[in-house]
Amino acid sequence: MKYEGMIYRPPSEANSLILQVTVGCSYNRCTFCHSFRDKIFRIKSFEEIKEDIDEVSPYGPIPRVFLADGDALVIPQPDLVRILTYLEQKICGLERVGIYANAVDILKKSTEELKELKSLGLGIIYLGLESGNPEVLRRIKKNATVEQMVRAAKRVKEAGILLSITVILGIGGVELSHAHAVDTGRILSEMDPEYVGALSLMVVPGTPIAEEIRTGKLVLPNPFELIQELGTMIANCRFTNCFFASNHASNYLPLRIRMPAEKEMALRLISEVLARKDPALLRPEYMRAL
Ligand code: SF4
Repeated sequence: MKYEGMIYRPPSEANSLILQVTVGCSYNRCTFCHSFRDKIFRIKSFEEIKEDIDEVSPYGPIPRVFLADGDALVIPQPDLVRILTYLEQKICGLERVGIYANAVDILKKSTEELKELKSLGLGIIYLGLESGNPEVLRRIKKNATVEQMVRAAKRVKEAGILLSITVILGIGGVELSHAHAVDTGRILSEMDPEYVGALSLMVVPGTPIAEEIRTGKLVLPNPFELIQELGTMIANCRFTNCFFASNHASNYLPLRIRMPAEKEMALRLISEVLARKDPALLRPEYMRAL
């Protein structure tokens, strides 16, 4: 397999074959994101992708494939259909293909086009909401509005594709912490995804957000304030059936809960941690990572 640069994938795709179909992110301007800053975006040619698929095809069964990099759904529909069709033909035991997408790219596809991708194996889309608060989205230069995020989520669900949403604790700083938590819970409820992953902001030197923190423009919440944010977010979530995880390595309080069934239990645990304010209850700083 020929990978260009550092490869990122969702934690739940740890056992998947990573097939790099694009290099970098076509947008690449979110202020907190360092993932693809050094990459010039391009869509790989079908010949390059085919070579990688041919190389791994004798080693099946391969139940899961993840299409990297940042927003591979940007690939025009006929080309994506060609890639998925070839994967289906060549990879034995393939059950699900996953992909990162941003809201704008999802909305460029019709429900019918998404259904076509689903019929060819696309089983899950990972979308970074980051925050349900419009001002936070504006400040972090996300390339979609809250309204576009909700419409994109609904379209994915209409197509019968699983939806996994990422949100970022601390991204609104101390100033917007409460509004970020309330609005994110509310917007997540409107999106009603199957999965939510809550990360905590990890500041990477060289990113615009690192500069905002250095100059005091953005003040990060402390660990217990981040847990308060998590609690407020969960309290405002009303899901049909969602697996909500804050067990990413960046978080101070790892949770894995099924909502709505375990929502109250999670809120009780968070209240207890906030009442005790004992740092021993938190993931130690040296174990936190991106
Ligand atoms: S759209 Fe995603 S990958 Fe691209 S810059 Fe923003 S957060 Fe990073």
